[in-house]
Amino acid sequence: MDYIRVTSEDELATALRRDGAVLLAGGTDLMVKMRGWAIRPSLLVDISRVDSLRRVSTSSDGAVIGSAARVADLLANSTLCVRYPLLAAVLRSLGSVQIRNRATLGGNLANASPAADSALALLAYDARVSLAGGAAERTLPLAEFLQGPRRTALQHGEYLRAIDLPAPRADWIPFFHKVGRRRALTIAIASVAGLLAFRDGDIVDARLAAGSVAPTPLRLHSVEQLVVGRHVDDALVATAAATATRAVAPIADVRATASYRREVAGELVARFLREAGGLAPASL
Ligand SMILES: Cc1cc2nc3c(=O)[nH]c(=O)nc-3n(C[C@H](O)[C@H](O)[C@H](O)COP(=O)(O)OP(=O)(O)OC[C@H]3O[C@@H](n4cnc5c(N)ncnc54)[C@H](O)[C@@H]3O)c2cc1C
Repeated sequence: MDYIRVTSEDELATALRRDGAVLLAGGTDLMVKMRGWAIRPSLLVDISRVDSLRRVSTSSDGAVIGSAARVADLLANSTLCVRYPLLAAVLRSLGSVQIRNRATLGGNLANASPAADSALALLAYDARVSLAGGAAERTLPLAEFLQGPRRTALQHGEYLRAIDLPAPRADWIPFFHKVGRRRALTIAIASVAGLLAFRDGDIVDARLAAGSVAPTPLRLHSVEQLVVGRHVDDALVATAAATATRAVAPIADVRATASYRREVAGELVARFLREAGGLAPASL
């Protein structure tokens, strides 16, 4: 196996056209797969020195995050974290200090795991991704980029260049909760992230996404449509939770059964509505 460390996007695009070339970012997913022989590249193309892919910019229009920006660097960017607190919350729960020091945002998305934590916040913020290296650069909504477990919209020779976030609302209430087999350094059994905005006691904007409960991280549009325009009360919480359990399509695996995952997704939606709507927590 060959290895090259490219220093520009031109070099990257040229290298990725070679047969058997695989892009290496932080390696925290790729190395695990290579050790298990799930993937055997003939050429590893390391992008860690491509400065243009590590750039992060924020403006009144939103934010653009280079795909090779590391999770730890994003968490150290106070402007980004203050403007996008939901993104900061999910990134804080991604892996351990060591993993966050290497893992990149682009790697978390391109790896296309149903449990990818960052995808939940990015779906809620309506992120778009830009792809380069093909015949022409293209941008698409994150929901279209994520096509299934380990499947993305990337074509041969293409790479994920950047993640674009629209300007956030200042009055969004963020929520993120991940249920795993332990509290820290855990892959989600089920997770929910969301943003709610209220006016005069009614929900005026709702964004909800769930992880590990479908082939891809998923926006819960049916729950959003249900709650917008409504005041939070016990009846709405119960209906929203039931709607969430119907919106997801989990599988059973070594971590949990499908029915447990479904139930957790509904429960997390209920918890978010209760907290944001100022209701007392449900008694267990
Ligand atoms: C111990 C441990 C704990 C973890 N905990 C979590 C967790 O809590 N939550 C979570 O979501 N994940 C977790 N992960 C998974 C992993 O750390 C993340 O998915 C990470 O963000 C991957 O980024 P990376 O830079 O290391 O990607 P890499 O491993 O370098 O790449 C992953 C895949 O994406 C492709 N790729 C990477 N960048 C690009 C790009 N710019 N364009 C096109 N393709 C690209 C690679 O070719 C490869 O196929 C954990 C992993 C480990 C080992």
